[in-house]
Amino acid sequence: MKIIPIINPIINISAQTNKITSAARHYRSQDTVSFKRNKNDNTPFINDTRELDLHCAGCGKLMLKNSTVNDFINKKIYFPAHTALKRLSHEQNFQIKEQSPTMQKVYTFITREAAQNPNLNIEELIKTPKLQEYIKKANKEQITAIEELKTRCKRVSHSSQYIVDEIDKLHPDFQKTEAAILQDLKLLSKLYPAETIHNILNKPEIKEHYLAKLQKKQNSRLKKVTPLIQQLSPECAPKAETALNESFRIFNTESMDIMHKRTRVIEKFQKAFKDIDNANDKEIAKLIMRRLEKLPDSKNDVNAFMVKYSRKSENAIHKILIERLRNTNDHVKPEHRKGDEGQSIKKNYLNLCGKCNHERKTDSYSEIIDKNPQMQENTQKQIDEIIDFINKGILSEYDTWPNDIKMPLGLESEGQIIIDTSKLDIRKAKAARTKRLQEFTEAEKHKPQDEIAKTMYRRHGKKEQTNITQQ
Ligand SMILES: [Zn+2]
Repeated sequence: MKIIPIINPIINISAQTNKITSAARHYRSQDTVSFKRNKNDNTPFINDTRELDLHCAGCGKLMLKNSTVNDFINKKIYFPAHTALKRLSHEQNFQIKEQSPTMQKVYTFITREAAQNPNLNIEELIKTPKLQEYIKKANKEQITAIEELKTRCKRVSHSSQYIVDEIDKLHPDFQKTEAAILQDLKLLSKLYPAETIHNILNKPEIKEHYLAKLQKKQNSRLKKVTPLIQQLSPECAPKAETALNESFRIFNTESMDIMHKRTRVIEKFQKAFKDIDNANDKEIAKLIMRRLEKLPDSKNDVNAFMVKYSRKSENAIHKILIERLRNTNDHVKPEHRKGDEGQSIKKNYLNLCGKCNHERKTDSYSEIIDKNPQMQENTQKQIDEIIDFINKGILSEYDTWPNDIKMPLGLESEGQIIIDTSKLDIRKAKAARTKRLQEFTEAEKHKPQDEIAKTMYRRHGKKEQTNITQQ
């Protein structure tokens, strides 16, 4: 088959990507320092660290601002509703004439609204006052129709070429797995530029390619467990043997559409080792579990990623890639730690990328450091970046944060993350903010009247929309 020899060599051009990313990093960090006002309120300050260009405190990668990710999803991944609705008939074979009378009515109404708001995607359109009003009065059947149209619109996809080009424009500083995924997507998009990524990954030969590679890795991982099983006591070994045979069966003979295979394999072994009381067996069981943790999954393996996400909805693949770079608030003391929940307050937030945040779950930072010792260094690097934004008068309402976060970080890492905040200079920050505000007010005064009017109108419009969302 033609595809495979082309896919493999391309995966190895990561050196080239690194060069591009480092240039991008330089460009983006310059961009943030420029005099720029926050678009949500009329001040020259930023008051949310998710809106800064920061490196992840976990992996150290340059994250994408929260709003950049939102814009990307809303404007680049999803089509405006009026285009999406038009495409339903040929892309999803959704013929409106064949639908129920309720659906026809709802469709007509939404299509008309979409035409009047040509820039809004379906989610945004639903939040407009008129649609909200309509929804309030709608009956169950109409709500179901709206839901269906929403789901359908969100499945309308751009071509693979468009998507990879748009991702490239973000200059993503991906971790190794995500960089490799993007490389593969680029190659696939060269082969089938007009097709959607979802369709490409669902071509039988492509699906087979990734599945075969995944199975090969899974089998070779499982084989590494065999010599350890032989060292177990005669009471324990047969149970582990059964778990191993079951695992081979799960990976190699079960249908590709069955999900959570890796989790089930791990559970089989956990069950086999449940009642061990022999110290030697315990030690070996631990080693086996550690080897099994290295089984490929969608977070650390391109093939597992492709196999998993090809089964999800049309836009899931590129959406999850971008989500992994989102600058998020990680709860230093985890929000869902049983009996000891961390609060959702600034004092309990550290900025982690979407991937690190998701992978952490409720682990303590000391457990994270065991796997990733660089976290100590990367956390300090981020604290220094934030302090720099404070000192320059760009970030406001964070003056006490660097010292507030010291204690939670120390506790959560069992004393392994001790940050240095000595560079923080509140006097300098206050002076910089005063200067910034003066310059900003001055610039506002000299702004042409119509531009001010436009800004005010925009602000007003935004405010209204927020209220509607809250209803
Ligand atoms: Zn990270």
